[in-house]
Amino acid sequence: MHKQILDNIETGVLVVNRLLDISYWNRWLEIHTGIDEDSAVGNNLENLFSDFSFGLLKQKIHIAVKLGTPTFVNGRVSGYVIPIEQYKVTKSIFRFMQQDATITPIGDGLVSIVVTDVSPLLEAHYTIDKQMKMLERQARTDFLTGCFNKNMFNDILSTEMKRSERHGHVFTLIIFDIDDFKLVNDTHGHLAGDAVLRQMAEIVVGSIRQSDALIRWGGEEFFILLPETALEGGALLAEKLRRRIRKFDFEKAGRLSCSFGVAQWKNEVGEDGIIGMADSALYLAKNSGKNRVCVFSNGQIMSWSESLDPPPIAPLEESEES
Ligand code: GH3
Ligand code: MG
Ligand code: MG
Repeated sequence: MHKQILDNIETGVLVVNRLLDISYWNRWLEIHTGIDEDSAVGNNLENLFSDFSFGLLKQKIHIAVKLGTPTFVNGRVSGYVIPIEQYKVTKSIFRFMQQDATITPIGDGLVSIVVTDVSPLLEAHYTIDKQMKMLERQARTDFLTGCFNKNMFNDILSTEMKRSERHGHVFTLIIFDIDDFKLVNDTHGHLAGDAVLRQMAEIVVGSIRQSDALIRWGGEEFFILLPETALEGGALLAEKLRRRIRKFDFEKAGRLSCSFGVAQWKNEVGEDGIIGMADSALYLAKNSGKNRVCVFSNGQIMSWSESLDPPPIAPLEESEES
């Protein structure tokens, strides 16, 4: 009667001793391994699967017999205890069936091993994990340019504020906005405008450090957060970017420019404070002719070239500047 039951269940059941000599092999195992009961019983697992190491199973059997209690193998962690290749019409991500196993001592130095196929479950977990990671990535990146989006900026900024507070560091925020971008859309079309946004992000990503963050705040306005960087370092980078962008020949749109506002964060400046400071510097850059870098320094907003030592970059040619 037991045999009838064990031959009609959806799990593998075998009985072995410590040396892996087999004394019972149910129908499920016959079907999935292609080895019939007569060939298995009286044989040894290591003979039947000579390419496979049964080290983990032996260890679990040893503990089960020694302690007189069941031991378990988790498929998610260990993969499988008996190598069964998957012959599926639909493609599985696992070459071998993933298995949970329960090893129970049944007396006379024997153990029963109950094997459950957990491949579909683990496949589902894997797919969900992948989807979750993709959704998380989508939630923090801007679809068009691939840089961080506005949602993510709040996290980046508050993390950086806490980190800087703890270590007594400063950081700098650059806000920049493409000049006369509406004209690009109006003249060359929205797709050309999109291409400009993508190329602009590429130029910036290629010019900043890995630890710096580029965020598309919205429309044609970007933020760059520079950890452990003081105002002068931020202004230098902004000036470098301004020149690089000015020199770049954008597909269809040709030559463009950007205006920059730069502000440094210190302990006493809140989240809104740093954005407001950089934004008011950008406002001055826009209102004093665009294509320039303005900084917020000691409560005052000024053009970078007037307020600080000239940047150690050779001035642009007349033709490039205009
Ligand atoms: P300013 O020099 O003062 O910054 O002028 P501007 O023309 O750049 O600024 P304005 O705010 O007048 O126009 C911004 C334009 O950006 C208008 C809007 O249609 C366009 N825009 C916003 N988001 C996108 C986008 O994702 N793709 C494209 N192609 N255009 C966008
Ligand atoms: Mg603009
Ligand atoms: Mg704008």
